Amino acid sequence: MILILKKQITEAQKHAIREFLTDTGYTVKEIVGEEETIFGAVGQSSVDIRQVQLLEGVASVVPISKPFKLASRELKKEDTIVSVGKVKVGGNRIAIIAGPCAVESRNQIMEVARSVHDAGAVILRGGAFKPRTSPYSFQGLGEEGLKYLREAGDAYGMPITSEIVSPSDVEMMGEYVDMFQIGARNMQNFELLKAVGRMKMPVLLKRGLSATIEEWLMAAEYLMASGTDQVILCERGIRTYERATRNTLDISAVPVIQKLTHLPIIGDPSHATGLRDMVGPMSLGLVASGASGLMVEVHTDPDKAFSDGPQSLYPSQFEKLMRDLDALSGVLGKSMERPVKVERPKVKDVERQKTSSPVVAFQGERGAYSEMAIRRAFEEDTEVLPCPSFGELFDAVREGRAHYGMVPIENTLGGTISENLDQLERNGEIEVVGEQQIRIVHNLIGLEGTKLETITHIYSHPQGLAQCTRFLTETMGHAQAVPFFDTAGAVAYVKKENDPTKAAIAGEVAAHVYGMAILAEGIESHARNYTRFYVIARPENAEAFKDLRPINRASLLFTVGDRPGALFEALLILAKHQLNMKRLESRPIPGKPWEYSFFVETELGDDGAFEAALAELKETCLSLRVLGKYGSNR
Ligand code: PEP
Ligand code: MN
Repeated sequence: MILILKKQITEAQKHAIREFLTDTGYTVKEIVGEEETIFGAVGQSSVDIRQVQLLEGVASVVPISKPFKLASRELKKEDTIVSVGKVKVGGNRIAIIAGPCAVESRNQIMEVARSVHDAGAVILRGGAFKPRTSPYSFQGLGEEGLKYLREAGDAYGMPITSEIVSPSDVEMMGEYVDMFQIGARNMQNFELLKAVGRMKMPVLLKRGLSATIEEWLMAAEYLMASGTDQVILCERGIRTYERATRNTLDISAVPVIQKLTHLPIIGDPSHATGLRDMVGPMSLGLVASGASGLMVEVHTDPDKAFSDGPQSLYPSQFEKLMRDLDALSGVLGKSMERPVKVERPKVKDVERQKTSSPVVAFQGERGAYSEMAIRRAFEEDTEVLPCPSFGELFDAVREGRAHYGMVPIENTLGGTISENLDQLERNGEIEVVGEQQIRIVHNLIGLEGTKLETITHIYSHPQGLAQCTRFLTETMGHAQAVPFFDTAGAVAYVKKENDPTKAAIAGEVAAHVYGMAILAEGIESHARNYTRFYVIARPENAEAFKDLRPINRASLLFTVGDRPGALFEALLILAKHQLNMKRLESRPIPGKPWEYSFFVETELGDDGAFEAALAELKETCLSLRVLGKYGSNR
């Protein structure tokens, strides 16, 4: 059952409730949500629910209708994000686990680790104990294999996971792995589940070959009841009458699971299909369906693999898949989880140094689209600094109150945000260190239970309103659109008014931040609505922002003389060095009427090409500044 606690509950009351429940045979879990704090009580107890209802500090008691309790969405509404080492699985990230089916030798795992790491995988896999169908097949290297796997993971900064097959190995394996893997064949090995759960470590729980979704969640419940709350579910195909593929990938399990449980779900297209040519399309299907990641088998020499060679990707196939996933993640409004290569930047402020995590400034109120971009580029729980204007955002970064700034540069519908080009020009010591693109998905946001028919006023930034004209005229013709200074601010306003005739248009983060309901989602007239941001920093913080993507682009700002062909000559230099220019814009120079500076984005080309071009540009241009070099995936 779920006990929703009163907001003004005292610690003593909490303690008394907990004691009552444990004495009557329950295990109690406290879950602190954004809106309320609850106690989840599970166990074999026959206490009358009314008795619990009467306890001081209890607002209400709800029985959990599902047989799985701790795993159930009824108990915990928010998505669980599982931390595997520094990698986070769940939420708006797509985390890719990759590696060979089995660790075969030190050299083999080192080679595969390097290859999958360079392509962007964030967790390394490799079986050391292989539960094979035939007792005569390769059974794995055992502990020796775990040692090699650990060494490879450490060498490339990747947490590792490996399958556990016996309760007696739990302690030993716990010394090596960052996450246990429970294989399909062991999903209902309850003694194993209990032993692994007691370790309180992350567990990847594969779906059994013929398990229903409910049986699978009951297996997760075993793990959670034994002590861990860090469970990732993995759909890996089930046994059906179809023989064209090794198993049948049950892709609809992804949204079903997301309704039933708060635990993250990933997919394993390798064991699901058994054929490498199908791994790519099924990977995209899984991620498009909402999976928080994938587990993919990759081998540097699949034809010689000891196990599962035919389903293992060649490194080149895996690299292509990662590029496709990167592109798809943008469409879904998600981002690829990146390897954390460096410690978070140092700060002058002693208090902050302790946490060594960066503060990122943005313009707008909490819940703005810029905050969404921050959550994509940095950790989900990064500390943010909302600023009332772009000028104050740049000030915060320049004065060291924030390590980074997330600055919108252009929108596919609205065009350039010129003010920020001007701010970059004005703030000489600030660099562009990265780029983040997000898809703008607008939502109609209001009080829980609001009916569209009852809404009379819809508030949003003029851009937000303009981008939803179709919805506003076709569906909401009866309501009046009211311009507001900011999208997230409009949500805050509707919340404050507490009036079901009012609604706002904003991003989902705003609904989340202000505890409001999404009444209609994806209401923008054009689906291909993207905003591109620059991540800006002072030089001392620039290096610490390491993008997954290789540095491949530069932004420049230059002025040229007032003579025929001056701009042409500058651009000719880029052309001569085979640098592909991606953007050219002119901006008036403040205080110099009818004089302009030019803002250019260019690819970096072959080794040394950019530097050579730069040397020549310096000769031709009156002034020249490199705003920054960074990684782009456009
Ligand atoms: C594996 O991932 O190595 C494996 C054996 O998978 P499954 O348990 O899904 O068959
Ligand atoms: Mn395998």
